[in-house]
This record gives sequence, structure tokens and C-alpha cells, in this order.
Amino acid sequence: MGTTLNIMSACLTVICAAAAYGSENPRVVRLIAVGEVQQELLSELADSLEKNLGVVAQVGPGIEAPAEAYNSRRKQYFSTEILRVLNEMKPGGRLYLLGVTELDLYVPTLNYVFGEALPLRNVAVISLHRLRQEFHGRDADRSMLSKRMTKEAVHELGHVWGMRHCPNPSCVMFFSNSLEDTDKKSAGFCDKCDAVFKRHNK
Ligand code: ZN
Ligand code: ZN
Repeated sequence: MGTTLNIMSACLTVICAAAAYGSENPRVVRLIAVGEVQQELLSELADSLEKNLGVVAQVGPGIEAPAEAYNSRRKQYFSTEILRVLNEMKPGGRLYLLGVTELDLYVPTLNYVFGEALPLRNVAVISLHRLRQEFHGRDADRSMLSKRMTKEAVHELGHVWGMRHCPNPSCVMFFSNSLEDTDKKSAGFCDKCDAVFKRHNK
């Protein structure tokens, strides 16, 4: 009888430890400015990632725009090349690097990208370039920029954490073909994507 009780209490201890693991070992997202980025924007993004995702977000030292990523014909930067540079900074375990840049990004098959992620390497990058109203010939709108920046960051980090594009247009993992799509969706995961997010956090 005594032996049985001991086994039971040992099991309960393990279960409690497992349940608490996620909060005691949160994912750490380090924001890395690639080229010139306002410090204020980075701090704001760190705050909103903490609020939206329950991760620890910090602003790390920035890096220069990698010259080898520049395509002089397109006058844009190849985002995969920026991810390669971030990967050399050796993220891993529960540390993730999110590059944030004002540079205009592309991949060879597309005119531009808002961001890109390498799921198995713990790295992602987002560009603010086309999220700014000024880029589209409109008046600057700081609050709109903040919302778009958060959505794009959560979306790319979602890819890092194993999420694919989601058919639900209000889910942050919905593929944004245009800024209109970005503006329409929320900054959060739908229930299905949230389940993947939580599974990845074990
Ligand atoms: Zn995507
Ligand atoms: Zn979803």
C-alpha cells in the first residue's frame, strides 16, 4: 500500500513539472535591427510580442545590412541571405532571432516579401519598408505601422514554430497577398494554429 502511494505521488510531481515547463522556460525572441531601424519601434515590437505570444522579447545589438544580400539590378535585399547571416549568430534551443529591417526584401520568385522564416534554424526577418503608408503615397500612420509590424512578426515567428498558412482570413497565419489582407486579419492565431503553437512550446 505504502509503495503504491509513493509511486502515485512521484507521478503527480512529474505532471506538475511538465505543466509548468512552458512558463518557466519561455521562448526568447531577440530582435535584431538589420541596418538602421528606430529603437523606439523595436522596443514597441518587443512589448507587443510579449503581450501577444507570452514569449520573452528583447532588443539585441543590430547588424549592418549585409552587402552580399543586395541586388543592384532589383535595388532590393535577398531575404534568405539575411537569414543566413542571422543563422551565423547561432540561435538555437529556445532562443530565436527576428531580424527587423527598413530594407526592401525579395526572394527570386517574387517581386517582394514582407518577411521570411527558416523554421528549423530559429530565424526570421520582417521588412517595414512596404508596411509604411508613405511607401504607398499616403500620409504616415504610426498606429497602422505598429499593427502591421506586429502581425508580420507574429506570422513569421509562427512559421518558425511549425505553422503553415491558414485558410482562415482573420488568423495571423493567413497568407497576405497584399496589405489589405494584413489589415483585415488579427494579430492572433485561430484555435487550430494556437494548438500547433502550444504543442511546439513543450
Ligand atoms: Zn507566411
Ligand atoms: Zn489559423
